[in-house]
Amino acid sequence: MESEVRYSFVIPIYNEEATLQELARRVADFIDTLDGQAEVIFVDDGSRDGSLDMMREIAEADPRFKYVELSRNYGHQIAITAGMDFASGKAIIIMDADLQDPPEVVLEMIGKWKEGYDIVYGVREEREGETWFKRTTATAFYRMLRKVTDLDVPVDVGDFRLVDRAALDAFRALREKNRYVRGLFSWIGFKQTGVKYKRAARFAGDTKYPLSKMLKLATDGVLSFSMFPLRIALNAGFWIAGLAFVGGIWAIVEKLIGAYVVPGWVSLLVAVAFLGGIQLIILGIMGEYIGRIYEEVKNRPLYIVKSSTTQRQEQ
Ligand code: UDP
Ligand code: MG
Repeated sequence: MESEVRYSFVIPIYNEEATLQELARRVADFIDTLDGQAEVIFVDDGSRDGSLDMMREIAEADPRFKYVELSRNYGHQIAITAGMDFASGKAIIIMDADLQDPPEVVLEMIGKWKEGYDIVYGVREEREGETWFKRTTATAFYRMLRKVTDLDVPVDVGDFRLVDRAALDAFRALREKNRYVRGLFSWIGFKQTGVKYKRAARFAGDTKYPLSKMLKLATDGVLSFSMFPLRIALNAGFWIAGLAFVGGIWAIVEKLIGAYVVPGWVSLLVAVAFLGGIQLIILGIMGEYIGRIYEEVKNRPLYIVKSSTTQRQEQ
């Protein structure tokens, strides 16, 4: 049977008891105004607070709200992937639980969708309530990523977006383990556009993205879409070998013209240490790629569902 649902909202939840009630209220008010049935899929990403109980209550009070409970904390990117596997709507909207992505912007996204766009992402024009560090590192990262990948990943775009069913089905075929969801969405192509919005401050609670998780996300972004780090090794190798060659010739010339040569053990030590460092860095980079290859060949599922009030969609 064809699903009646027109709009599916996918919202990952990790220890969000401080925002859940307000979120459900705002989203419920918002979907009342939409021109079609809507469902809201909360994905509990192994919360340790009362989030799951709240989700249960919300789902019991309003059947448009559903939840999927993952068996542990898998991380934001996997949580939204899980939610998208369960969404049955014609248009799927991914948003954060903390109301940093205002539901009202979704109206604009829906407008673009009706004009025929398959993916409409939110472009953060301003960010409120985020640290200077987060803002500058994010800005620098998005620009660097564009440079080192062949992908057309838009700048200052997070995971807040609307996706048409056809594009979602394409996305669901990509099951790689170290996921950088916004990169995957760029990779699948389709007709895409952005709507600008002001990123609000978190409604309540603290960020669930400490520096370690930010770094992991950034590494996934670069390594999943670029061979550039591997090429650094090749380029550095050429340059250093070239320099060594020139140095060798220089040494021979010095010898031939009988110039006085300083015993120079410091420069020797520096050269050896420098090369050692470069080799370790390059080994580390290769290790990162090999680790990822290992994760892929193990071929484990992306996540395990403990309980849910809705069905995973057939692929
Ligand atoms: N989140 C998650 N699993 C995690 C970390 C975060 O599902 O391991 C969810 C979180 O509940 C929120 C969204 O991902 O709905 C974005 O997290 P957050 O707002 O903390 O990130 P920030 O906006 O600070 O980058
Ligand atoms: Mg947030």
